[in-house]
Amino acid sequence: MIEATGLFKHYGPHEVLRDVCVTVAPGEVVAVIGPSGSGKSTLLRCLNGLAEITRGEITVAGTLLVRKGDPGQPDIQLHGPDLRALRAELGMVFQRYNLFPHMTAVGNVIEAPVHVRGVTVDEATEQAHQLLRRVGLTHRAQHYPQHLSGGEQQRVAIARALAMRPKAMLFDEATSALDPETVGEVLAVMRDLAADGMTMVVVTHEIGFARDAADRVVVMDEGSVVEEGPAKQVLSEPTNPRTQSFLRRVI
Ligand code: ADP
Ligand code: MG
Repeated sequence: MIEATGLFKHYGPHEVLRDVCVTVAPGEVVAVIGPSGSGKSTLLRCLNGLAEITRGEITVAGTLLVRKGDPGQPDIQLHGPDLRALRAELGMVFQRYNLFPHMTAVGNVIEAPVHVRGVTVDEATEQAHQLLRRVGLTHRAQHYPQHLSGGEQQRVAIARALAMRPKAMLFDEATSALDPETVGEVLAVMRDLAADGMTMVVVTHEIGFARDAADRVVVMDEGSVVEEGPAKQVLSEPTNPRTQSFLRRVI
Protein backbone atom coordinates (compact mmCIF):
# COMPACT_ATOMS: atom_id res chain seq x y z
CA MET A 1 0.00 0.00 0.00
CA ILE A 2 2.87 2.34 0.84
CA GLU A 3 6.40 1.88 -0.37
CA ALA A 4 9.04 4.45 0.49
CA THR A 5 12.67 3.84 -0.36
CA GLY A 6 15.85 5.82 0.24
CA LEU A 7 14.10 8.91 1.58
CA PHE A 8 16.18 11.94 2.38
CA LYS A 9 14.73 15.20 3.59
CA HIS A 10 16.55 18.41 4.41
CA TYR A 11 15.45 21.63 6.00
CA GLY A 12 18.23 23.90 4.84
CA PRO A 13 21.46 22.25 5.95
CA HIS A 14 19.63 20.10 8.49
CA GLU A 15 19.15 16.47 7.42
CA VAL A 16 15.93 15.27 9.04
CA LEU A 17 15.44 12.02 7.10
CA ARG A 18 18.41 9.86 6.19
CA ASP A 19 17.92 6.97 3.81
CA VAL A 20 14.59 5.95 5.32
CA CYS A 21 12.77 2.94 3.86
CA VAL A 22 9.27 1.99 4.95
CA THR A 23 6.95 -0.55 3.39
CA VAL A 24 3.38 -1.04 4.53
CA ALA A 25 1.37 -3.94 3.15
CA PRO A 26 -2.42 -3.75 2.74
CA GLY A 27 -4.07 -4.38 6.11
CA GLU A 28 -0.83 -3.99 7.99
CA VAL A 29 -0.49 -1.80 11.09
CA VAL A 30 2.94 -0.23 11.48
CA ALA A 31 3.82 1.72 14.62
CA VAL A 32 6.56 4.32 14.34
CA ILE A 33 8.29 5.16 17.61
CA GLY A 34 11.34 7.15 18.58
CA PRO A 35 12.48 10.24 20.46
CA SER A 36 11.10 13.70 19.84
CA GLY A 37 12.80 15.29 16.84
CA SER A 38 13.76 11.97 15.25
CA GLY A 39 11.74 12.71 12.08
CA LYS A 40 8.52 10.75 12.65
CA SER A 41 6.13 13.58 11.75
CA THR A 42 8.29 14.57 8.81
CA LEU A 43 8.15 11.01 7.53
CA LEU A 44 4.33 10.96 7.69
CA ARG A 45 4.14 14.34 5.99
CA CYS A 46 6.39 13.08 3.20
CA LEU A 47 4.32 9.91 2.78
CA ASN A 48 1.19 11.92 2.02
CA GLY A 49 2.92 14.61 -0.01
CA LEU A 50 2.52 17.40 2.55
CA ALA A 51 6.30 17.77 2.63
CA GLU A 52 8.71 17.35 -0.26
CA ILE A 53 11.58 14.92 -0.03
CA THR A 54 15.07 15.80 -1.21
CA ARG A 55 15.75 12.35 -2.59
CA GLY A 56 14.09 8.95 -2.75
CA GLU A 57 10.92 7.37 -4.02
CA ILE A 58 7.40 7.00 -2.62
CA THR A 59 4.59 4.92 -4.11
CA VAL A 60 1.11 4.98 -2.55
CA ALA A 61 -1.58 2.53 -3.60
CA GLY A 62 0.23 1.84 -6.84
CA THR A 63 0.73 5.51 -7.76
CA LEU A 64 4.19 7.02 -7.87
CA LEU A 65 3.93 10.10 -5.63
CA VAL A 66 7.52 11.22 -6.00
CA ARG A 67 10.86 10.03 -7.31
CA LYS A 68 13.93 12.19 -6.97
CA GLY A 69 17.64 11.79 -7.41
CA ASP A 70 17.63 8.43 -9.17
CA PRO A 71 20.39 8.77 -11.78
CA GLY A 72 18.73 6.36 -14.22
CA GLN A 73 15.26 7.94 -14.12
CA PRO A 74 13.65 11.34 -14.52
CA ASP A 75 12.42 13.08 -11.36
CA ILE A 76 8.68 12.88 -10.83
CA GLN A 77 6.56 14.79 -8.34
CA LEU A 78 2.78 14.69 -8.38
CA HIS A 79 1.13 18.10 -8.37
CA GLY A 80 -2.30 19.71 -8.37
CA PRO A 81 -5.33 17.44 -8.82
CA ASP A 82 -3.21 14.28 -9.04
CA LEU A 83 -1.56 15.07 -5.71
CA ARG A 84 -4.93 15.89 -4.13
CA ALA A 85 -6.39 12.63 -5.41
CA LEU A 86 -3.52 10.66 -3.95
CA ARG A 87 -3.74 12.54 -0.66
CA ALA A 88 -7.42 11.61 -0.44
CA GLU A 89 -6.35 7.95 -0.38
CA LEU A 90 -4.65 8.60 2.96
CA GLY A 91 -6.61 9.68 6.01
CA MET A 92 -4.56 11.72 8.42
CA VAL A 93 -5.17 12.29 12.11
CA PHE A 94 -2.96 14.76 13.95
CA GLN A 95 -2.19 15.44 17.57
CA ARG A 96 -4.52 18.44 17.50
CA TYR A 97 -7.89 17.56 16.09
CA ASN A 98 -8.42 20.76 14.05
CA LEU A 99 -12.18 20.33 13.77
CA PHE A 100 -14.15 23.19 12.25
CA PRO A 101 -15.42 24.96 15.39
CA HIS A 102 -18.58 26.33 13.76
CA MET A 103 -19.78 22.91 12.56
CA THR A 104 -21.38 20.07 14.52
CA ALA A 105 -19.78 16.64 14.66
CA VAL A 106 -21.90 15.55 11.67
CA GLY A 107 -21.09 18.77 9.85
CA ASN A 108 -17.39 18.13 10.29
CA VAL A 109 -17.69 14.57 8.99
CA ILE A 110 -19.71 15.44 5.86
CA GLU A 111 -17.58 18.46 4.89
CA ALA A 112 -14.97 16.75 2.75
CA PRO A 113 -17.18 14.09 1.12
CA VAL A 114 -19.61 16.82 0.02
CA HIS A 115 -17.07 19.45 -1.06
CA VAL A 116 -14.21 17.28 -2.31
CA ARG A 117 -15.83 14.06 -3.44
CA GLY A 118 -19.11 15.55 -4.59
CA VAL A 119 -21.28 13.21 -2.51
CA THR A 120 -24.84 14.49 -1.89
CA VAL A 121 -25.52 15.95 1.55
CA ASP A 122 -28.11 13.23 2.26
CA GLU A 123 -25.78 10.41 1.37
CA ALA A 124 -22.85 11.98 3.24
CA THR A 125 -25.03 12.56 6.31
CA GLU A 126 -26.19 8.95 6.37
CA GLN A 127 -22.60 7.77 6.09
CA ALA A 128 -21.51 10.27 8.78
CA HIS A 129 -24.00 8.83 11.24
CA GLN A 130 -22.65 5.33 10.55
CA LEU A 131 -19.10 6.56 11.10
CA LEU A 132 -20.02 8.38 14.29
CA ARG A 133 -21.63 5.17 15.51
CA ARG A 134 -18.42 3.34 14.66
CA VAL A 135 -16.39 5.69 16.86
CA GLY A 136 -19.01 5.53 19.63
CA LEU A 137 -20.41 9.04 19.20
CA THR A 138 -24.00 8.49 18.08
CA HIS A 139 -25.17 10.67 20.98
CA ARG A 140 -22.83 13.53 20.08
CA ALA A 141 -23.71 13.91 16.39
CA GLN A 142 -25.29 17.35 16.79
CA HIS A 143 -22.73 18.71 19.26
CA TYR A 144 -20.21 21.40 18.42
CA PRO A 145 -16.50 20.75 19.11
CA GLN A 146 -16.43 23.12 22.10
CA HIS A 147 -18.98 20.89 23.83
CA LEU A 148 -16.98 17.71 23.23
CA SER A 149 -14.14 16.34 25.30
CA GLY A 150 -10.69 16.06 23.72
CA GLY A 151 -11.18 12.33 23.24
CA GLU A 152 -14.56 12.89 21.61
CA GLN A 153 -13.13 15.54 19.30
CA GLN A 154 -10.34 13.20 18.30
CA ARG A 155 -12.88 10.45 17.55
CA VAL A 156 -14.80 12.90 15.35
CA ALA A 157 -11.50 13.65 13.61
CA ILE A 158 -11.06 9.92 12.95
CA ALA A 159 -14.62 9.65 11.61
CA ARG A 160 -13.94 12.68 9.43
CA ALA A 161 -10.83 11.07 7.98
CA LEU A 162 -12.68 7.79 7.38
CA ALA A 163 -15.45 9.64 5.55
CA MET A 164 -13.12 10.05 2.57
CA ARG A 165 -12.88 6.25 2.39
CA PRO A 166 -9.09 6.26 2.57
CA LYS A 167 -7.03 3.23 1.65
CA ALA A 168 -4.76 3.82 4.63
CA MET A 169 -4.78 5.94 7.78
CA LEU A 170 -1.81 7.88 9.14
CA PHE A 171 -1.89 8.85 12.82
CA ASP A 172 0.58 11.36 14.23
CA GLU A 173 0.56 11.12 18.03
CA ALA A 174 -3.22 11.15 17.95
CA THR A 175 -3.44 10.73 21.73
CA SER A 176 -0.53 12.88 22.92
CA ALA A 177 -2.56 16.03 23.53
CA LEU A 178 -5.43 14.29 25.32
CA ASP A 179 -6.29 14.17 29.00
CA PRO A 180 -5.14 10.81 30.32
CA GLU A 181 -8.70 9.66 30.99
CA THR A 182 -9.71 10.03 27.33
CA VAL A 183 -6.65 8.39 25.75
CA GLY A 184 -8.13 4.92 26.14
CA GLU A 185 -11.30 5.64 24.18
CA VAL A 186 -9.31 6.92 21.19
CA LEU A 187 -6.91 3.97 21.30
CA ALA A 188 -9.95 1.66 21.43
CA VAL A 189 -11.25 3.16 18.19
CA MET A 190 -7.81 2.76 16.61
CA ARG A 191 -7.66 -0.86 17.76
CA ASP A 192 -11.08 -1.50 16.19
CA LEU A 193 -9.91 -0.03 12.91
CA ALA A 194 -6.79 -2.17 12.99
CA ALA A 195 -8.82 -5.29 13.75
CA ASP A 196 -11.10 -4.38 10.86
CA GLY A 197 -8.18 -4.62 8.46
CA MET A 198 -7.42 -0.92 7.93
CA THR A 199 -3.89 -0.23 6.74
CA MET A 200 -2.36 2.07 9.35
CA VAL A 201 0.85 3.93 10.08
CA VAL A 202 0.75 5.06 13.70
CA VAL A 203 3.30 7.40 15.20
CA THR A 204 2.82 6.90 18.91
CA HIS A 205 4.34 6.96 22.36
CA GLU A 206 1.77 4.39 23.51
CA ILE A 207 4.04 1.38 23.68
CA GLY A 208 1.20 -0.82 24.95
CA PHE A 209 -0.82 0.00 21.85
CA ALA A 210 2.17 -0.65 19.61
CA ARG A 211 2.76 -3.99 21.29
CA ASP A 212 -0.73 -5.37 20.91
CA ALA A 213 -2.22 -3.55 17.94
CA ALA A 214 0.73 -3.18 15.57
CA ASP A 215 2.10 -5.89 13.33
CA ARG A 216 5.41 -4.17 12.96
CA VAL A 217 7.34 -1.48 14.77
CA VAL A 218 9.73 0.96 13.14
CA VAL A 219 12.13 2.77 15.48
CA MET A 220 13.51 6.13 14.36
CA ASP A 221 16.39 8.08 15.80
CA GLU A 222 18.05 11.19 14.36
CA GLY A 223 16.34 10.80 11.00
CA SER A 224 17.14 7.14 10.47
CA VAL A 225 15.30 3.89 10.98
CA VAL A 226 17.52 2.23 13.57
CA GLU A 227 15.48 -0.93 14.07
CA GLU A 228 12.35 -2.55 12.75
CA GLY A 229 10.58 -5.86 13.03
CA PRO A 230 7.59 -7.67 14.50
CA ALA A 231 6.10 -5.52 17.29
CA LYS A 232 6.56 -8.00 20.10
CA GLN A 233 10.12 -8.73 19.14
CA VAL A 234 11.25 -5.11 18.80
CA LEU A 235 9.50 -4.02 21.99
CA SER A 236 10.47 -6.99 24.15
CA GLU A 237 13.91 -7.84 22.83
CA PRO A 238 15.27 -4.78 21.05
CA THR A 239 18.73 -5.31 19.64
CA ASN A 240 19.71 -1.73 18.89
CA PRO A 241 21.14 0.19 21.88
CA ARG A 242 19.25 3.32 20.83
CA THR A 243 15.94 1.40 20.84
CA GLN A 244 16.83 -0.02 24.24
CA SER A 245 17.55 3.38 25.75
CA PHE A 246 14.41 4.92 24.18
CA LEU A 247 12.22 2.13 25.55
CA ARG A 248 13.78 2.43 29.00
CA ARG A 249 12.80 6.09 29.01
CA VAL A 250 9.17 5.69 27.87
CA ILE A 251 8.02 2.48 29.56
P1 ADP B 1 9.31 14.03 15.51
O1 ADP B 1 7.93 14.00 14.91
O2 ADP B 1 9.96 12.68 15.55
O3 ADP B 1 9.33 14.68 16.85
P2 ADP B 1 9.86 15.95 13.41
O4 ADP B 1 9.64 15.22 12.15
O5 ADP B 1 8.79 16.85 13.87
O6 ADP B 1 10.24 14.90 14.56
O7 ADP B 1 11.18 16.80 13.31
C1 ADP B 1 12.41 16.26 12.86
C2 ADP B 1 13.42 17.36 12.77
O8 ADP B 1 13.08 18.24 11.72
C3 ADP B 1 13.53 18.21 14.03
O9 ADP B 1 14.88 18.52 14.24
C4 ADP B 1 12.74 19.45 13.68
O10 ADP B 1 13.24 20.54 14.37
C5 ADP B 1 12.98 19.57 12.19
N1 ADP B 1 11.85 20.19 11.48
C6 ADP B 1 10.58 19.71 11.42
N2 ADP B 1 9.79 20.50 10.68
C7 ADP B 1 10.57 21.52 10.26
C8 ADP B 1 10.35 22.68 9.45
N3 ADP B 1 9.15 22.94 8.91
N4 ADP B 1 11.41 23.51 9.24
C9 ADP B 1 12.62 23.25 9.77
N5 ADP B 1 12.90 22.18 10.52
C10 ADP B 1 11.90 21.33 10.78
MG1 MG C 1 6.13 14.57 15.70
